Amino acid sequence: MTDRKDELAANLAKVENRIAAACAAAGRAREEVTLIVVTKTYPAGDVRILSELGVRHVAENRDQDAAPKAAACSDLPLAWHFVGQLQTNKVRSVVGYADLVQSVDRSKLVTALSKEAVRQEREVGCLIQVALDAGENGRGERGGVAPGGIEELADLVAKAPGLRLDGLMTVAPLTGEYAGRQRAAFERLMDLSTDLRRAHPAANMVSAGMSADLEEAVAAGATHVRVGTAVLGVRPRLG
Ligand SMILES: *Cc1c(COP(=O)(O)O)cnc(C)c1O
Repeated sequence: MTDRKDELAANLAKVENRIAAACAAAGRAREEVTLIVVTKTYPAGDVRILSELGVRHVAENRDQDAAPKAAACSDLPLAWHFVGQLQTNKVRSVVGYADLVQSVDRSKLVTALSKEAVRQEREVGCLIQVALDAGENGRGERGGVAPGGIEELADLVAKAPGLRLDGLMTVAPLTGEYAGRQRAAFERLMDLSTDLRRAHPAANMVSAGMSADLEEAVAAGATHVRVGTAVLGVRPRLG
């Protein structure tokens, strides 16, 4: 356990240095960027260690793994972010522990989240997940709505009882015009955020950047980076 704590502390320090350097290079204050550690596939014990090391935001992408982990860590001062594709039949469980859902990408999900948030008397922060590589159907391979669908969905979230519209999230596309162009993808997300904030000024979260591309996200203006591998190590299985 001590070894794991040393390992996580060293990895966190490296990630912290990367974020600080990226902020300095972009002329941004370090406080403008929040680190969210993606703990998917790693045990509750790691989450506990991260909390001891000062981490305040964690993210998960599968309810089956996240629900028991969040329950085991319910005594810790952590904000839980849900970042995976979310089926409506999992909404009841996810609303039980998630402070934010970053993968809101369709109206049916908004309706289900709102209904459940009201029932559980919780307020759930919502980010609209944007698919910059959306196909003809207006949806991304890994979830997300095409840029043209943001406004309608945002208005729906803003009006939904129990939900709070917090901003936008994206995952850098592996295909399409933004493949291999993370910086351009994240700058596009920033432009979309600027548009969104005209109608919804408080929706100022911009969640972008992972282990491999957090520098590009910070340079573009992201307020939240989601880092898994660089803190916890290469995942033992696909997450
Ligand atoms: C897994 C995951 C991350 C973290 O990815 P790493 O490359 O491990 O840093 C970030 N965002 C989402 C949506 C993820 O599923």
